[in-house]
Amino acid sequence: MAGLDELTDEARRNTRGRFEQWVKNPQCETNTLSAVLNVKLADVALSLGYQPEYGQSPFAITRGLQFEGWLFKDEAKVIRESMEKVGILEANSSGFLDLRLTMNGGKSIKSVDAALEKSHELLVNLSKDKKFIPTTIIAGLMLKIPKGVMLPEATLIIDVASIQRVDDEWVIRVGEIKVFPDRGGHTDSNEISTARAQAGVYQHALQITVDSLGLTNPPVVSTNGYLVFTWPGTNSPVIRANEDLTYQARRAALGFERLDNLAQELISKKTQNLAEVDLKDWIAHSKTEYKEICWSFCDLAPRCQDLAIADDRAIVLGTEASKLLGSVSVGRAIELLEGVDPKTDVERALQVQLLAAKWETV
Ligand code: SF4
Repeated sequence: MAGLDELTDEARRNTRGRFEQWVKNPQCETNTLSAVLNVKLADVALSLGYQPEYGQSPFAITRGLQFEGWLFKDEAKVIRESMEKVGILEANSSGFLDLRLTMNGGKSIKSVDAALEKSHELLVNLSKDKKFIPTTIIAGLMLKIPKGVMLPEATLIIDVASIQRVDDEWVIRVGEIKVFPDRGGHTDSNEISTARAQAGVYQHALQITVDSLGLTNPPVVSTNGYLVFTWPGTNSPVIRANEDLTYQARRAALGFERLDNLAQELISKKTQNLAEVDLKDWIAHSKTEYKEICWSFCDLAPRCQDLAIADDRAIVLGTEASKLLGSVSVGRAIELLEGVDPKTDVERALQVQLLAAKWETV
């Protein structure tokens, strides 16, 4: 029987991105399997003859790397100034630990294993060595999330973390860096909630990692995080400090647990070894749950819409119409509008509502 342990090392990476993809449509088995098996929806779409549209653009990736490069240049001078200004760090703080991989702009860490080792070393030192003076800013802290969360030994990279001494304890706070422009009270609410959700995933992941180490005096993982955005049109950071991540971390905890259970359940249905399974084909032919939100992230949206049209499902008219029509098909709703006799109480009630709302056929 197939097992999760057969997944490739690569499939254990980029946990956060896959988690965020999954929560957009957790009812869809195709989406769940794509997240669990780390097979891109874009690749599945291509295999079915659909042109992918939603991948992150090379421009956006380059822009993000440039922004991070600027923040962490010269021992993190730029981000440190901003952090000190908003009170995340005290004035005249020092110490920068760069754990970013060289492929992501780091200077010396060449492999995931090396980043994991250094990250682990830092967390342990914060606990056991009373004389240890930690660095105050860490870029690319990498965590190996304990077994049983989404996938065995999934890894996650935290954009930025800071360490402060508070009441005789080391406190770590996590931050999420985005090139989103901060426009004060007019900042895009979707962008803020996306960044908060991601920071919540970091907070939760760091907490369970620290818990799993069984340290005697573990560092405190603060539920208070921060978001690093940009001044519109510039590379200067704007830090939204004191973001309460309690709810977002809870959402991440519940989501990870649910995704983990689903992963076990879906994969246990396969009787073949995963290595012998055509993953794209498996994902492409799993159950779907088409919704309006699919158009915001999934490259299979045109295909699932085609299927919904072929099945005459009300969801092709949008979420609100789908709620109104329930299990009644679009074709049948049109017949009811045109005055056919309803066959059931549901159809009768629907016909009254459609006529009262003055829906018309064209
Ligand atoms: S578009 Fe289809 S495959 Fe993608 S999430 Fe929606 S229902 Fe699932």
